[in-house]
Amino acid sequence: MIWNALILCGLVAHDPVAVLPQTPSPVRSFLERGLGDAQAYTLLRELCTTAPHRLSGSAGLDRALAWGEAALQRAGADKVYRVPTMVPHWDRGTTARLTLATATATEAPPVTWPILALGGSIATPKEGIEAPVVRVVGRKQLAELGARAQGAIVFYDEPFDPSKLSVGEAYGGAVWQRGSGAIEAAKLGAVAVVVRSVTAALDDHPHTGAMRYEEGVPKIPAAAISTKGAADLARRLEQGVVRVRLQLDCQTLPDKPSANIVGELTGTDPSAGVVLLSGHIDAWDIGQGAHDDAAGCVHAIEALRLLKKDGWRGKRTLRVVLYTNEENGVRGGLAQRDATPQGEVRLALESDSGGFAPVGLSVDAAGPLKEAFEVFGRELQPIFAGTVVQGGGGVDVGPLKERGAVVGLLLISGARYFDHHHCALDVADNVHPRELQLGAVAYAAWGRFACDLDEAVYVAEARLKAGSAAK
Ligand SMILES: [Zn+2]
Repeated sequence: MIWNALILCGLVAHDPVAVLPQTPSPVRSFLERGLGDAQAYTLLRELCTTAPHRLSGSAGLDRALAWGEAALQRAGADKVYRVPTMVPHWDRGTTARLTLATATATEAPPVTWPILALGGSIATPKEGIEAPVVRVVGRKQLAELGARAQGAIVFYDEPFDPSKLSVGEAYGGAVWQRGSGAIEAAKLGAVAVVVRSVTAALDDHPHTGAMRYEEGVPKIPAAAISTKGAADLARRLEQGVVRVRLQLDCQTLPDKPSANIVGELTGTDPSAGVVLLSGHIDAWDIGQGAHDDAAGCVHAIEALRLLKKDGWRGKRTLRVVLYTNEENGVRGGLAQRDATPQGEVRLALESDSGGFAPVGLSVDAAGPLKEAFEVFGRELQPIFAGTVVQGGGGVDVGPLKERGAVVGLLLISGARYFDHHHCALDVADNVHPRELQLGAVAYAAWGRFACDLDEAVYVAEARLKAGSAAK
């Protein structure tokens, strides 16, 4: 029945906005002002051209930090400062090659597939590693490999599960191959791993990302192959034995100094604490890290600028944090926790789901705070950004839970996020200026609401949490 009603609704309402309540509200006019004075995309282009590659330890990240300080000052922050930390330093090198080495291969030029070293991988010897390939699709096949993994290159080829309703959940189901695939294969005696790129897209772009080693397990090189490359490799394996040569010259160097960049609009009540809006300013060294996560940094900087320009000053301090080292270490998240007094931060939000259109807020609250956000969310429905769900925050704000903060995440329409994630397609040209600005105005609206929200709501939510933890 409900489906019929929805279809009818779609037929009679040519413009979907027409079916929404149109009552004028101060929030609505704030959103209109924020969309009319859009600077988010200019900021994104600046960051993506100043420092397209911002991996921890790189000169690009240092340039990005200086840019972040200047951008927060220009946005009108009352104070801008650094929270220092050491970060890992892994360098990709210049060689990443996977070549068909089967003795009977007659194709010319030699068959190669698009690959990238996974972040943290060791190098191969200069001449590479030549070995037969064994393909595994899923943990069950890995467990059944047995002696066939000995001396082989394990090819992880589990795709996204298309039945998952959330693409993030599909990513979560497949990403183990990248994160711990080298450990599991090394335990079975493999000499290297090649991992299907963790994306739902079918193309020639390999997607990098962090991988781990484990104490006591041999370290073996690890690379990501594009999804089309994976399909070709799988087809060849169906026809017989495939030997390949893998060459990587990446390396891990000593840790380097880095910092989170922080900018604040000081609140009027020093005892009311802080609301934090954040993104992460480090990015992989492929593409420009435009969606991941220049977009999140820009959402937060632009939110501060719009609120300041509006003449608003909150009861609580609005603290914007551009986190360092989200991608391969979370040292920025830990440093921010260490620099935060217990109980200071009431709410810590992160934007790390790209620069697509916002849809709402995920917040780690079940009671009065979630209800307050749900009521406020109705104000954001004219831009379809008011959905509130109970869920986790971003990677960087997670450690602030130990300091008593409620954490949350700006929810973004995520269907295409992983197409661009950690690959050459993550560039400013693939971010839509209006969608990015919608994210910034939504972020500003949530932040403003949280800064001025009655303290009793936070207290009641904390009591509820403490009560359920005690059970
Ligand atoms: Zn990210």
